[in-house]
Formats: sequence, structure tokens, C-alpha cells
Amino acid sequence: MADDDFGYTAWGRDWVRLAQPLRQTRPDPALPRARKLARVGGVHVTIDGRIVRGVVQRGRNTLAACIEVAPMPRETIVRISGQLYGAQSYGAQPILTDEVHRTVTEAGHGPAPKLAGVDCSCSNGTGRCIHILAVFYEMARRVDDDPRIALDIQDFFRAPSGSTRVSTVALTQRWIALNTLDPSDYFTVSK
Ligand SMILES: [Zn+2]
Repeated sequence: MADDDFGYTAWGRDWVRLAQPLRQTRPDPALPRARKLARVGGVHVTIDGRIVRGVVQRGRNTLAACIEVAPMPRETIVRISGQLYGAQSYGAQPILTDEVHRTVTEAGHGPAPKLAGVDCSCSNGTGRCIHILAVFYEMARRVDDDPRIALDIQDFFRAPSGSTRVSTVALTQRWIALNTLDPSDYFTVSK
């Protein structure tokens, strides 16, 4: 199960789940090693849009793991926006609490990230090598520290490009409102 170092928020736990899916019942010996790598600072992560690049130092080997996260479905964005901006008085700082996470999840629009692709420079080739797993844990820790990352990496804060299929006026206004804000100014991180 998740240990306390990773995934102590619901938002971070989603990333722990990428390493430890609920459907996986067999213990995976790579998991404790991946956690240890993340814990001892062996994973350096940079986030660029929906791409996570991890440089993983293990012994004398340096591996490059890459994860691409899929854009968040429009409906999920609308649900979360509604939770954040609907229930709170104007000007209040929305907070990404576990409660917000639970509410949207119970409504059937859980914000867990979906992977668009994974890659690693090692020879493992399964997409679940220790380096990729270690990046999942490092991301869990980052997201625990700042749950905005969980949304940002799924394009929550970015306006759709011209090809958007969406439609309603309310939605468009919501987008403009969101997009003119710098998320780093706007959210308060609850600890
Ligand atoms: Zn690897």
C-alpha cells in the first residue's frame, strides 16, 4: 500500500496509483526500490506542459524516463471548476482540498491523470521499469506539496486551441476567466 511519504493528499495518491494500480494484487518488488529512489533524491523531474521528464540516477547509471499525460476531459474540468469557483464567494482563494477531489470523483469525474505514453532509455521496455515507477512517486510527492500541479499537467489551466469541439457560452466564459489567471497567484495550497 501507499506509504506515508507519498500520496498523503488525494491528488498525490492518484500518482501513487499509477505506480500501484488497485487491480494489481501481486506485490511488485520494483515498487519499494522505486520509492527508495524517489526518497533519496535520485529522481529529478522537470515538467513541460503535459510532459514529465525524469532523470533517474541509480548507482552509476543515469536513465531518462518520460511520461506524457493526456489532457483532462472537458467535463472533468467543468466539474472541478464548478467545485472551485461555484461554492466560494467571489475573490476567495480556491483550495484544492481532498474534499474537492472526493466530490468530483463521486460525481463520476475523478481527476486522476491518464497516461498518453511512457518511455525510458533503459532496456526494460515494459513501461513499468523502476525508473518510470520512481518518476510516478516523485510526481506524487510534488503533487502532495502543490496539488495545482495535478491539474496543470492535464492542461486544466490552458485554453483550448482553435480545434476545440466545445460549445456552450457558459463554458467559454469559464475558460476565459480561468485562463486570464495565473494559477500560481490564484490557488492557496492547503497543507
Ligand atoms: Zn527505465
